[in-house]
Amino acid sequence: MSETLTLHRSLPLSDLSEDETMFRDQVRQFAEERVRPLVSRMDKEAQIPRSLIDECFQLGIMGIEIPEKHGGAGATFFMSVLVVEELARVDASVAVLVDVQNTLVNNALLRWGTEEQMARYFPKLASKWVGAYALSEAGSGSDAFALTCRAEDKGDHFSLTGRKLWITNAAEADLFIVMATLDPAKGYKGITSFLVERDFPGFEVGKREDKLGIRASSTCELILESCRVPKQNVLGEVGKGYKIAIETLNEGRIGIGAQMVGVAQGSFEHGVKYSQERQQFGHPIADFQGIQFLLAELATEIEASRLLTYNAARMQGTGASFIKEAAMAKLFASQAAEHVTSKVIEIYGGYGFSREYPVEKYFRDQKVGQIYEGTTHMQLLVIAKQVLGKM
Ligand SMILES: Cc1cc2nc3c(=O)[nH]c(=O)nc-3n(C[C@H](O)[C@H](O)[C@H](O)COP(=O)(O)OP(=O)(O)OC[C@H]3O[C@@H](n4cnc5c(N)ncnc54)[C@H](O)[C@@H]3O)c2cc1C
Repeated sequence: MSETLTLHRSLPLSDLSEDETMFRDQVRQFAEERVRPLVSRMDKEAQIPRSLIDECFQLGIMGIEIPEKHGGAGATFFMSVLVVEELARVDASVAVLVDVQNTLVNNALLRWGTEEQMARYFPKLASKWVGAYALSEAGSGSDAFALTCRAEDKGDHFSLTGRKLWITNAAEADLFIVMATLDPAKGYKGITSFLVERDFPGFEVGKREDKLGIRASSTCELILESCRVPKQNVLGEVGKGYKIAIETLNEGRIGIGAQMVGVAQGSFEHGVKYSQERQQFGHPIADFQGIQFLLAELATEIEASRLLTYNAARMQGTGASFIKEAAMAKLFASQAAEHVTSKVIEIYGGYGFSREYPVEKYFRDQKVGQIYEGTTHMQLLVIAKQVLGKM
């Protein structure tokens, strides 16, 4: 056994390399100094200011895995996970904007794009273009491959007609990965991925959802009416869109796991601080064993979520199969985030229920973690199939 391999195996999962620590610290500082002051306003106005998105580009966190030759940071998937966690600790909406850009859009283009597509889109995605990923429709969510958005081969181009729903980043995005079917009779084998630019004729961003949580993150409908997409904008092979969707979401789930770790951590830190400040019966409430045991339990849940998420992300980097681990990370981290953020509200007592304090927002923001990129039921199905050897 080589020395490197022995060393690698002996490292704790949460051990970060020098580069990872530096990147994480930079993003933590950005989140504290630039994002935190805007959190409450962004939530109320349901909007992320463009100036903040521009700062994300300048920091290099919108093109983490984009190769340096195309203007990106040339870093790893694991770095994306660290970035999403750090941002979500402060604001889950900014975290998901960055998450979708990196773990879904850039990731899909990196894995399935042609050299020409990468050269055309990566410099923009690394510097100013926000990306979005459009799979879901009104009638197809968990059963994603029942989608009805239609693509027709018109000889020199494809024509796309249909609607997409729930599309994160749609209000800001310039580039959309759109899944449509070329032949509904072929079922999932008819599904193809297309790179659709915002100003392609026949493309429109529709109504924006008014949501419970991650309110500053845009979630909109897409309307495609004979949308003209050049032939060179097929991502991957015709009829292989289902494979792109499945494989991208396997990785995306780790990002959502990271988002949930960050949300739980951010909420928890407020809970710890408040418990040491709030006095009842002549003592800080942290002196009471009931509060101490609760904090200990929540800390353990966050640690377990983080380890599951880091493990899945590290596995992604080794080329090993990580389908089960990614689903477990998202499943566990999203459930832990629900528990942690709920209990932190209780630590705050009545103040936790007030919108003047920061903890109710974490509770609202976490809920989506059990819905998007596959509901809790879908994660359980994936894990069960793996456990039963049915995949
Ligand atoms: C804020 C937000 C952002 C989103 N962003 C995006 C995006 O950027 N791109 C995108 O494509 N989509 C996006 N989505 C859509 C999201 O992925 C879907 O909402 C999700 O996949 C669930 O689909 P659905 O809402 O149609 O629920 P349904 O599939 O109708 O599910 C309803 C309930 O039935 C359960 N269920 C369904 N089938 C089964 C089964 N076989 N066994 C057991 N239980 C089952 C589900 O678990 C759930 O509890 C977003 C959603 C939200 C809320």
